[in-house]
Amino acid sequence: MANRYANSYTLIVPMRVGLFGGTFDPPHLGHLVTAVNVRHVLKLDIVVLMVANDPWQKHGTREVASAVDRLAMVQAAIEGVDGLVAGDDEISRGGPSFTADTLEVMSRRYAGAELFTIVGDDAAAKFGSWQRASEIAKLSTLVVVDRPGSPLVPPSEFVWNRVEVPRLEVSSTDLRERFVDGRPLDYLVSNEVLKVIADRNLYGVGKRGNRKHRAEENGAGKS
Ligand code: ATP
Ligand code: MG
Repeated sequence: MANRYANSYTLIVPMRVGLFGGTFDPPHLGHLVTAVNVRHVLKLDIVVLMVANDPWQKHGTREVASAVDRLAMVQAAIEGVDGLVAGDDEISRGGPSFTADTLEVMSRRYAGAELFTIVGDDAAAKFGSWQRASEIAKLSTLVVVDRPGSPLVPPSEFVWNRVEVPRLEVSSTDLRERFVDGRPLDYLVSNEVLKVIADRNLYGVGKRGNRKHRAEENGAGKS
């Protein structure tokens, strides 16, 4: 017999939302594999890849592509991927990007949601230097994933949830070097992202000629 109470109330389950912030200069396979796997393991509804407007921790180290270009690359990277969202809150807010501010915005936007801050172990190791770190730990569950290489230890005064994801030795730093020295980018960066890079002449691609031109120079496509 049908349960006559079945539709008499709605069970509201709070959303589970991951925040995966970064410079994404450019976004790569390591970012995407991490985001989808953490989402799967922790049963998150969405993971927001939040593009830092001004990655203040990188000040003075190198030139960073513009925030709008990095957002366009992240949008292209996550297009059509279930549960991944490109976040532009830090860009709309302007100024240096502090995760504590972003979590405040997200806790209002996703009222009642459980928030998770996701970082690689290199970022986790520096967590003590983040602005209002203890506020971040109060507003969200801290999640760390290991990157290849010697394990980096996150500060022990915070509770960390380690999630195992495939460890991929891919970094934006290496990719930027590949654009300069011509080593292959295939599979490390998606074709959609490569298209944005070519269209916007990022990483010196415009100067060097796009990948199609390079292939033609090498004789490919000629019969
Ligand atoms: P860069 O070399 O310019 O620092 P990156 O590859 O480290 O770039 P970021 O945008 O700095 O990328 O990193 C954003 C977040 O993604 C950080 O928490 C970082 O630890 C994490 N991350 C980056 N690459 C990987 C990877 N291959 N596997 C797991 N996490 C990663
Ligand atoms: Mg980094």
